[in-house]
Amino acid sequence: MPRWIFHIDMDAFYASVEQCRVHPEYIGHPLCVGPDPKQGKNRGVVRAASYEARAFGIRSGMSVLKAYNLCPEAVFVFGEFSNYFEASDEVMEVIERFADEQRIRKASIDEAYLEVTERVKAYPSPRALAQEIQTAIKEETKLPASIGIAPNMAVAKIATEQNKPLGITLVPQDSQAVAAFLAPLDVTVINGIGRVSGNRLKKHGIRTLGQIQQMSLQELYPVFGKGSKWLYDRAWGIDTRGIVRSGPWRRKSMGKDRTFPKDVDPKSVEVAVETLEELSTRISQRLQSKSYHFRTVTVKIRYRNYETVQRSRTLPVSTNDLHTLCKTVTSLFEEHRKPDAPVRLVGVRVTNLTRMTGQASLSDYY
Ligand SMILES: [Mg+2]
Repeated sequence: MPRWIFHIDMDAFYASVEQCRVHPEYIGHPLCVGPDPKQGKNRGVVRAASYEARAFGIRSGMSVLKAYNLCPEAVFVFGEFSNYFEASDEVMEVIERFADEQRIRKASIDEAYLEVTERVKAYPSPRALAQEIQTAIKEETKLPASIGIAPNMAVAKIATEQNKPLGITLVPQDSQAVAAFLAPLDVTVINGIGRVSGNRLKKHGIRTLGQIQQMSLQELYPVFGKGSKWLYDRAWGIDTRGIVRSGPWRRKSMGKDRTFPKDVDPKSVEVAVETLEELSTRISQRLQSKSYHFRTVTVKIRYRNYETVQRSRTLPVSTNDLHTLCKTVTSLFEEHRKPDAPVRLVGVRVTNLTRMTGQASLSDYY
């Protein structure tokens, strides 16, 4: 039976998290995630580049110094992995709602496959479902995603790459259309054909998937050896792998940071406390809407000089109570803040999460 597989890939993920969630003031600016050469940190590489930075030729993996030379006005942010994990969790939670039951596989921090063969029947077209997912991701996490739609995983992944950012690319289900979609593409679009294999094929004059389609499997063997059958299938867009759930991922944390428009003077520290309470309220609302309880609370304080401290407390039992959260947060803040340092950012995070799915019943134990 023909299937519909969606491959969802977040656009410039780390850079987008920085622009859309951490530093909205940099939306529309060239932004690199990596050490800041303007602060004398010339060593290190760009971990991710926003699309605005890519327009200047900046790529991830490039040295930050080279990136700076290409675009001196680019901003460099060092980035914090906790923000990326948190965003990833939120994205996966959105995606999960749209997959056929158990038919989802997280492929990396910003990428997932889902089968929607059943789900799509309730929509006028696969594209309409993809649009709804893209909009839900944007509305709930603020982040842009691209979606590839195809009858299998291998083709869906290639489709996603053809149209980014915020693209939706559909490859029809019939095998001729799949082959025609793949024919003009470079062999390296195949997940598993890297530079080395690509060069090996190029030495034999093979650059496109269409060229492989025109060969017989017997002709491919002397060129590619053992992997020939695999490559032949991929070139024709044949992939029979089924999507099995990669294990139920559990949300690991929920948190919010706030950078102050102007550093908070230690004498007017109640501004920071109010902000912490506001962040706690928002987290508590989210916990309740998702039926999560937490046990560990972490408060983050960043000072004007960028020194950042995080202090945690684990409660004796799990709870989702707002009052408990606020009390823990403010006492952590008061106990650990430096009395004379201006505060640039505060953050609240809850971890040790458990999902409350109604009363446990006897059947849970058998
Ligand atoms: Mg990505």
